[in-house]
Amino acid sequence: MDFQFTHEQRLWGDTVHSFMDKEVGREYTREHDANREFPEEVFKKMARQGWLGLLVDEQDGGSAADPIMFALFCEAIGKFSLDTAACIMTSMFTATNISRHGTVEQKRRYLVPFLAGDAKFSISISEPQAGSDAAAAKSTAVSDGAEWVLNGNKVWCSGAHLPNTTIAVLARTGPGRHDGFSLFLVPNTTSGLKIKKMNTIVRKSLGTTEFFMDNLRLPKDALLGEVGKGWQYIGEHLEFERLSIAASQVGNARTALDDTIRYTKDRKQFGVPLASFQVLKHRMAENETELEAARLLVYSAACKMARGERAVKEVSMAKLFCSQVLFRIAFNGMQALGGYAQLPEYDMERYFREAKHGMVGGGTNEIQRSIIAKEMGIR
Ligand SMILES: Cc1cc2nc3c(=O)[nH]c(=O)nc-3n(C[C@H](O)[C@H](O)[C@H](O)COP(=O)(O)OP(=O)(O)OC[C@H]3O[C@@H](n4cnc5c(N)ncnc54)[C@H](O)[C@@H]3O)c2cc1C
Repeated sequence: MDFQFTHEQRLWGDTVHSFMDKEVGREYTREHDANREFPEEVFKKMARQGWLGLLVDEQDGGSAADPIMFALFCEAIGKFSLDTAACIMTSMFTATNISRHGTVEQKRRYLVPFLAGDAKFSISISEPQAGSDAAAAKSTAVSDGAEWVLNGNKVWCSGAHLPNTTIAVLARTGPGRHDGFSLFLVPNTTSGLKIKKMNTIVRKSLGTTEFFMDNLRLPKDALLGEVGKGWQYIGEHLEFERLSIAASQVGNARTALDDTIRYTKDRKQFGVPLASFQVLKHRMAENETELEAARLLVYSAACKMARGERAVKEVSMAKLFCSQVLFRIAFNGMQALGGYAQLPEYDMERYFREAKHGMVGGGTNEIQRSIIAKEMGIR
């Protein structure tokens, strides 16, 4: 057993971290969060680096990175904000679906501009009555001659309002709880689609939306892959998605803890640095220990995936634990920074807000526990 990254893996992690420091940085992230703006320049620069194609097959113009390289990427892009990471990662999973199941024409129309940084994707599963129980989704797609007709109300669809975005919409084409779903590629400019931005306290740069499909008419080739396989296609990238969330939480937790350490070393009260008070010192030591454990869980899950083994339990364990560790680190950071934690320019309030969302997005912590228990044979 060897806990060391290879030279290539270290170099890759360093390259993405250095990109984030030079090309993104704290001020840019803070401003885009405050102004609810998508980091368009960063998205384009990442496209130029070829990084948007990390989960796309090589024959489709991507680089098909292994899960360890992908986790290193997500850890680095999450260092300032989970939202920044989501701005990049969200599109990548639909790109994987298109690369695996799309026709030559769908790849030309959607993948080529995405890899060039000119187009994005969002994923729409959730509905007002279908959250954790995603299979309760009711939106329908009905075949009508040369077209599909979609109706329904989707909610929490991140990034659906952004220019040049195509939404991967999960809709019912049959009665089966899981095999009754198909996946449709819906350009957000399609007539009959009404998109409304939601006023969330997180995902402010990516933005989250509710939308209504009112007799949305789509050509037959809007269907991705086969009828009845939508649930399966979404499930194919769930392990990657949960791994990516856990890895970006580790990256964000590292920054939050480093910020806390720096602040408590600099700030003096009663004539000594805050860090010298045992209560704060011990809390930071505890958090450092938890963070190390969280990181090991991420790379242990990634290694299992890279070996081609089933890692459903390990990925859920990583997502559950990393979200808790980030939350504890950000919560303690809020306390350690005293009143200054309330100012956006100290960044801690953003880590804290986003940490809370990390316990919900991509499947709540309760759902992760249920998955882990099921994998343990406990029903
Ligand atoms: C900012 C944001 C962005 C999002 N982006 C997207 C997106 O891009 N696309 C998309 O499709 N969805 C997206 N979502 C939706 C997200 O996946 C759901 O919010 C999440 O799955 C939980 O669903 P819910 O909010 O309806 O909560 P509910 O399912 O109503 O759950 C409420 C509470 O009950 C608990 N609970 C539910 N069922 C069980 C159970 N069986 N056992 C124990 N506890 C349970 C939950 O854990 C939670 O604590 C986003 C959500 C947010 C907030």
